[in-house]
Amino acid sequence: MATIIDTLKDGGAVAPRPRHPEKAHRPDTPILRKPEWIRVKAPGSPIYSETKQIVRENNLVTVCEEAGCPNIGECWSKKHATMMIMGDTCTRACSFCNVKTGLPGALDAHEPEHVATAVAKLGLKHVVITSVDRDDLADGGAQHFVEVIQAIRRRSPGTTIEILTPDFLRKDGALEKVVAAKPDVFNHNLETVPRLYLNIRPGARYFHSLRLLQRVKEIDPTIFTKSGIMVGLGETREEVLQVMDDMRSANIDFLTIGQYLQPTRKHAAVDRFVTPDEFKSYETVARTKGFLLVSSSPLTRSSYHADEDFARMRDARNAQIARG
Ligand code: SF4
Repeated sequence: MATIIDTLKDGGAVAPRPRHPEKAHRPDTPILRKPEWIRVKAPGSPIYSETKQIVRENNLVTVCEEAGCPNIGECWSKKHATMMIMGDTCTRACSFCNVKTGLPGALDAHEPEHVATAVAKLGLKHVVITSVDRDDLADGGAQHFVEVIQAIRRRSPGTTIEILTPDFLRKDGALEKVVAAKPDVFNHNLETVPRLYLNIRPGARYFHSLRLLQRVKEIDPTIFTKSGIMVGLGETREEVLQVMDDMRSANIDFLTIGQYLQPTRKHAAVDRFVTPDEFKSYETVARTKGFLLVSSSPLTRSSYHADEDFARMRDARNAQIARG
């Protein structure tokens, strides 16, 4: 029997509607029991509540909540929330992602100021800003990213800014516009190995995403580039090592690797849980391939520990420059 287990309430007498209408007719896949090494801190500390209040007061959407991130208890207890701009509705329908899909509403012209206010109130040294895909907009939302970056800079000039962007597929000039706003870190996730794209990331193109990151470095080598993949989706070790080589050819500085967790029975199934030792081994190999920084663990996510990692990456580059 097919069941949608994740719905959105419209309020009043309207029946709940599926969060992922495009996945409604997919067969259910059983959700595997998580192994003991995937343990997370339960939300609920006073600082967690304070973070939540600042998010609500400023009318913000966070990927921490929308994606059902397992690290929310830990991150929000340190005031690390990753803002998701341009609404809560995505125009793509990736089979791993829990963000709601459909046709999004108009952009909120006040959002850049709201985000900047929240960043100042949270007192963030480093902020990660991500977004839904906005294929419906002529520039894919590039100008909105620029306005958010500028608003944060005005309000919190000492805060370093990391953006985690969509792929701006078929949006000529969008990437250049965002790079010109000089984020400190430009992050775009490859998500998985190329063989699995059709199933996992059907609206995207592996080599386009890789080229996007390579272009960032070509236009402005001072910007750090970062990308990540999930494992446990059915990829082989050889394929992961090949992705590492592809990333290094594109001059990507920072690689993140984390375990894929299935949000609902309608999402792509977990093929297996990769062990902590295998994550360590990926990290060791990746370091030998020349990344400035590698984060590889079951709970690694793009924005997990992003502030500490940014400082480590900057130190690693300075050390590299000093070595000549
Ligand atoms: S890892 Fe990222 S998305 Fe997850 S809770 Fe932390 S900041 Fe939010």
